[in-house]
Amino acid sequence: MILAPYAATEARSRGRRHPEPRPDYRSEYQRDRDRIIHSSAFRRLEYKTQVFVNHEGDLFRTRLTHSLEVAQIARTIARNLGLNEELAEAISLAHDLGHTPFGHAGQDALNECMREYGGFEHNAQSLRVVDQLEDKYAEFRGLNLTFETREGILKHCSERRARELGDVGERFLKKRQPSLEAQLANLADEIAYNNHDIDDGIRAGLLTFEQLAEVPLVARHLELVRKAYPQLTPKQLRHETVRRLINTLVTDLTETSRHNLEQARPAQVDEVRAQAGPLVAFSEAIRAEASALKRFLFEHLYRHHRVYRMNRKAQRVIKDLFEAFFQDPRLMPPENWDAARAGHAQGGDAGKAVTVADYVAGMTDRFALDEYERLFDPRRLR
Ligand code: MG
Repeated sequence: MILAPYAATEARSRGRRHPEPRPDYRSEYQRDRDRIIHSSAFRRLEYKTQVFVNHEGDLFRTRLTHSLEVAQIARTIARNLGLNEELAEAISLAHDLGHTPFGHAGQDALNECMREYGGFEHNAQSLRVVDQLEDKYAEFRGLNLTFETREGILKHCSERRARELGDVGERFLKKRQPSLEAQLANLADEIAYNNHDIDDGIRAGLLTFEQLAEVPLVARHLELVRKAYPQLTPKQLRHETVRRLINTLVTDLTETSRHNLEQARPAQVDEVRAQAGPLVAFSEAIRAEASALKRFLFEHLYRHHRVYRMNRKAQRVIKDLFEAFFQDPRLMPPENWDAARAGHAQGGDAGKAVTVADYVAGMTDRFALDEYERLFDPRRLR
């Protein structure tokens, strides 16, 4: 792998919190990626909602397939820009590890439950998963990932939390940038969800091509495809349009970022961090069009009547679970009850609340629904 001077490199890595000998046959960022893939939080992504609740259908994206698509897009662009592909991949695969069950509805509900106790941020939770909650190594808590992977996972966070987080929180206080690989994973995330949500939305019958023709970016590609191939089935039309959209966004992001890097010429990753703004970016025209697409999806998909009803139900499940466990932590498995007692001893109700949020956030959709029945349905014995 030939890296550009501004790529993140092992030689300039800020290292791991708990020092470890170098791996023999892998790079440090490969090791990060491998630890992420072997984590239990990663496996649980398979049963967590992206937009559609897991049991609504087997063809929809889950957080796991979403994360794989993000990694695929990020790797392609990383390689083209001479960035560290292994780091971009590690960040992409880990970026959603802290997500609650039931997508954003679940995250909003848990944030609401945690309002008096410091709130709940899924990004900060992803970092908490890799720093603290994965518990299987003899010599350290968490996965002991490199600074660069952790920096990339924490895409945004409140100032209060940034102060608590130390090294990775610092850039939010000093208004600095993360590595180019982190900037890239962030936009690869956006490319992935905008496109797969169109795909899933149409397949679920919540969006139509006619509606999507309101969005200039989509309309342009839809028309090209229809002209070139008038005989396509709806499924082919959907896919041929979406693949062109992804390609347009990936190409624009690659070319605009290459241009920005040629202008700014950062000599190494710390110069990237000192820039006033991100260098990995869309062109202004595509940024505007992609934002219009985002607004469209927000209005027509994420707030669709059917999605809304499911979301409200999901929020109720999360709130009731949180309340029950917070009032009586003994209802949680012994390990989590222990954590709650330790949390309470250290930080009172807020300390306890964090451990309950950890438990609830870690659940998959189906586990949360099952647990809800087990707790509240008097006919369920176990
Ligand atoms: Mg994501």
